[in-house]
Amino acid sequence: MSVALWIIATLLVFGGLLYYRSSLLVTSLGLVAMFAIGSFFDIVGPVLWVLLAIVLVPLNITAVRRGFISKSLLAMYRKIMPEISETEKDAIDAGTTWWEGELFRGAPEWKNLHSIQKAELSREEQAFLDGPVEEVCKMLNDWEATHELADMPEEVWQYLKDNKFFAMIIKKEYGGLEFSAYAQSRVLQKLAGVSTILASTVGVPNSLGPGELLQHYGTKEQKDYYLPRLATGEEVPCFALTSPEAGSDAGSIPDTGVICKGEWEGKEVVGIRLNFNKRYITLAPVATVLGLAFKLYDPEHLIGDKESLGITAALIPRDTKGVEIGRRHFPLNVPFQNGPIRGEDVFVPLDFIIGGKDMAGKGWRMLVECLSVGRAITLPSNSAGGVKSIALATGAYSYIRRQFNLPVGKMEGVQEAMARIGGNAYLMDAVTSFSTKGIDLGEKPSVISAIAKYHMTEKLRACMDDAMDIHGGKGICLGPNNYLGRGYQGVPVAITVEGANILTRSLMIYGQGAIRCHPYVLEEMLASAESGSEALNRFDKAIFGHIGFAMSNFVRSLALGLGGYRFSSAPYKDSTKQYYQQMNRFSANLALLSDVAMGVLGGSLKRKQRISARLGDMLSYLYIGSATLKRFADEGRQHEDLPLLHWAMQDTLHKLQESQLELLDNFGFVGKAMRVIMYPLGRFVKRPSDRLDSKVAKILLKPNASRERLGAGQFLAPEGQFGYLEQTLLDIIEAEPLHDRVQRAANKRIPFIFLDKVAAQGKELGVLSDDEVALLERAEQGRLRVINVDDFAHEDLMAGKAAREWALENQGKNQGKKSDAA
Ligand SMILES: Cc1cc2nc3c(=O)[nH]c(=O)nc-3n(C[C@H](O)[C@H](O)[C@H](O)COP(=O)(O)OP(=O)(O)OC[C@H]3O[C@@H](n4cnc5c(N)ncnc54)[C@H](O)[C@@H]3O)c2cc1C
Repeated sequence: MSVALWIIATLLVFGGLLYYRSSLLVTSLGLVAMFAIGSFFDIVGPVLWVLLAIVLVPLNITAVRRGFISKSLLAMYRKIMPEISETEKDAIDAGTTWWEGELFRGAPEWKNLHSIQKAELSREEQAFLDGPVEEVCKMLNDWEATHELADMPEEVWQYLKDNKFFAMIIKKEYGGLEFSAYAQSRVLQKLAGVSTILASTVGVPNSLGPGELLQHYGTKEQKDYYLPRLATGEEVPCFALTSPEAGSDAGSIPDTGVICKGEWEGKEVVGIRLNFNKRYITLAPVATVLGLAFKLYDPEHLIGDKESLGITAALIPRDTKGVEIGRRHFPLNVPFQNGPIRGEDVFVPLDFIIGGKDMAGKGWRMLVECLSVGRAITLPSNSAGGVKSIALATGAYSYIRRQFNLPVGKMEGVQEAMARIGGNAYLMDAVTSFSTKGIDLGEKPSVISAIAKYHMTEKLRACMDDAMDIHGGKGICLGPNNYLGRGYQGVPVAITVEGANILTRSLMIYGQGAIRCHPYVLEEMLASAESGSEALNRFDKAIFGHIGFAMSNFVRSLALGLGGYRFSSAPYKDSTKQYYQQMNRFSANLALLSDVAMGVLGGSLKRKQRISARLGDMLSYLYIGSATLKRFADEGRQHEDLPLLHWAMQDTLHKLQESQLELLDNFGFVGKAMRVIMYPLGRFVKRPSDRLDSKVAKILLKPNASRERLGAGQFLAPEGQFGYLEQTLLDIIEAEPLHDRVQRAANKRIPFIFLDKVAAQGKELGVLSDDEVALLERAEQGRLRVINVDDFAHEDLMAGKAAREWALENQGKNQGKKSDAA
């Protein structure tokens, strides 16, 4: 054997052992075996054996490794890494990791993904969707609610309460519906397709708020009293955390509760004197009970030694003396109930704390835990529902609307925007189904919830922009006939609430993901925060696991980057195989880049938000891609859905690649070096082609099975705007051959407008039956309703003081006319 051959073989064996993540002992034995072979062929002499021994012996003798290497590494680690604050600790401890952990670790086991059960509704949940949800969608007129009433009509509120819409999360034993997270998601999707007010009003009490907090932390008395009343709508809750001075930085709320003695129901008791000023609180103007977050102090040590107890959550009845409530904010013309609340020297007994005295100071932990669930459901589902409905509506509209004698949806430029809507609708439904299934399996997915919240609301924003562009003036002129405008206006609300998006992307996704999903970092941090020999043992195990892990990811990234990804494992051999293989490569890259970023930047990675954001993008896109592949498999690998799947995967993985390259471009010399390892042959993922865009657009244009699956579960009854559009689409498609027949009989070209006149002409020429005439007339009626927009008298658009003055003036005139007549 030649020296070169032995070196290559040794490197291959070493690389292979690292690639497959062999243990330190097995890797060491592998090297020893290769050295033995080298000795046999007279390639390896005593010097090389000594060098090998210098490296391997200390590493494999635990006492030596711990006592010398790990001890020094631990000392260095403690210097570099910042201490974790209590708030950060709570955020890290709250929640669990699930499939995203596997993606983070560089070598996803796809069979684990596909063995997760498919999300399904129970019979009772399906009946609720088909019954009360369908009914309330018929009841609500969004224009009336947003423009005329600035609220939902009283009968809609009552219907929601009577049918327990606010009690989807409340357990049956308290009279609630106790629906799965997946069912809640489907309800919100359907409502969001009809009205943002409706979806927000139902979403909030079922997300973070008194209901959720009480179920997890409430005392028996609190649960027995409040939960049945919340279930029937007798109590309407809100949850007040945000203050004018503390928005994103909610941990710094200046609102206080001071433990003191005071009078409650005629007796002196130990209680809390509250002073607070909150804003942006959803449902506050109509709430009967306020979930309030404040910082609790005990200066007189009435309940213990600690003076500053920390953030605490309590339930305060609306009519408590000192509470000021009822005025409203006006969130972007989507006037769901939202407003400020204030309280001055409000005295309440200690047992108003959620969970009682024992939970004093534990409010932050409670909020973070509950938010990790709610955030994965409400806004992602509202966004997905909105986009699903818009996908169908935009498809129908762009077939009905014609310019230059062509449905606008057949024009390539329009198809580009339509493809984004269609592909994203497919993907967004996939992400919400998959994430809510995780919750139903018992996860509290704080990383996934941040991914879902950020990306689904951003996709909503992008799709809304596309839908508005395609609808042109039809989307712009507000009125009862406009099904897009209010949703478009309301998008920034979804972007801002439950963790504003810039912060969520810059800090939360990766910030939490890196620590929670990484197999060793958290353990290293926890061990470094402790002292004694046990801490050293823990650190030793974690740090050497980590070093092996990083070396393995280096080898994997290089091997997969050199084209090896094409041979990596994938659970299917069809056209989806490439995506699993590309994700194998990206997953190894993410794991390697994470270690490099943490190693190079240490604690300052937290401040390098744009690096952190792009690492978060990589994790997010891997998660989104997995959810999309899972949906395709769960739905029986429908061949007709392939354009949607291909579009979603190619767009997602292309975005992942570009985000990764941007990261490398902004990471100095390290980035350049990593680029050589990760992209030795250049870019390898292409964005969806024009041809694929066109195929996706075609799915949206006319009824077919894929389109039906895309809009599954949305409100499409003919009473609603979208149902009417669907019916008109069917009529127009049926009208086309009739129109052709009349053209042929008349022997001239007739534009596809004034279909009622075409009908009359066809009847005169004797080429249309009465039924066909009626169909053309109906199609024309529908077509006009679809393309027309509303107009108003000036006074119908006035609001506030001007409207009141106009009404008074007019009333005076009318009264004047009446008395003249008398
Ligand atoms: C319609 C509506 C309903 C709401 N409902 C409720 C409710 O029911 N209960 C409740 O308690 N609150 C509610 N909120 C408050 C909401 O959660 C806050 O608006 C949100 O936390 C952001 O706070 P802010 O608006 O003060 O923005 P700021 O905190 O002032 O943020 C401004 C910008 O800076 C960014 N930013 C801030 N910090 C960082 C950082 N460290 N790194 C990077 N970027 C950062 C943000 O992403 C944002 O883009 C609601 C808000 C609205 C508008």
